[in-house]
Amino acid sequence: MIFSDKTKKHLIAGPCALESREQLKVTIKLLKALDIKIIRSCLWKPRTRPGWDGMGVDGVDILLEEALQEGMIPATEILNSEHALAVIEGVSKISPDATVVLWIGARNQTHFEQRKIGKVLAEGPRNIHLMFKNQMWEDLNHWMGIAEHILEGGFPKERLSTCHRGFVPNKYTNNPHKLRNIPDFEMSMIVKEKLGIPMFFDPSHTGGSPDNVALMTEQSLAYEYDGYLVEVHPYPEKALTDSKQQLTINQFENFLKIIGKLIEATP
Ligand code: PEP
Ligand code: MN
Repeated sequence: MIFSDKTKKHLIAGPCALESREQLKVTIKLLKALDIKIIRSCLWKPRTRPGWDGMGVDGVDILLEEALQEGMIPATEILNSEHALAVIEGVSKISPDATVVLWIGARNQTHFEQRKIGKVLAEGPRNIHLMFKNQMWEDLNHWMGIAEHILEGGFPKERLSTCHRGFVPNKYTNNPHKLRNIPDFEMSMIVKEKLGIPMFFDPSHTGGSPDNVALMTEQSLAYEYDGYLVEVHPYPEKALTDSKQQLTINQFENFLKIIGKLIEATP
């Protein structure tokens, strides 16, 4: 079972979005060389303003095939139970026992849908793990509630994890570094303690720029995160989404150096 070794930090790295089979192949090659085992590459992209929505269902087979044939664990955000079913269909067809990581993103706060995702995945292949990010606004109760809704849907707690991606700042927020989202490290540690599931940290969506990703990573080291979810792109300047914050492979190597004392990359 992935994420069960409490003595290690777990790394999920890769592009914000899957853009093409070629982009994924190149990224996998770069990340494998750094011993990364879990590749993120989102198929569905929720956008603040209308734009490119991701490859969607057309990318399911690409993500599964490319990652699995290289011995990597594929990871993507899903927004609803239809997406969960599309991944289940792909996994059942391509490799029913494969380990796969899915997550519910920060913007997706429909409780009925969270419960439905929990239900659909509970009935799907047995090695699909589900992570959920905190919601956009700061509220401990709501964050806890997401877990409760997913578990209420029947999803097993042993396969559930969560991720801190910060909270949206407002005009009263003290934000000297111009972070994209403000972390509440203490709150995430309370959630970890209360839920008893692995807690990841996302320095990319908190930081919002390569310098701030490094800053967030450094600050996070004072807390007991079980792992990190980081955006890395072979050519960030050409990325179709979140191009300002995705790390180049060199910048990602720097990230690895920052966490180096603590991390042994492992699924
Ligand atoms: C992402 O991880 O690419 C993403 C959309 O993040 P969030 O849900 O934290 O905004
Ligand atoms: Mn992103």
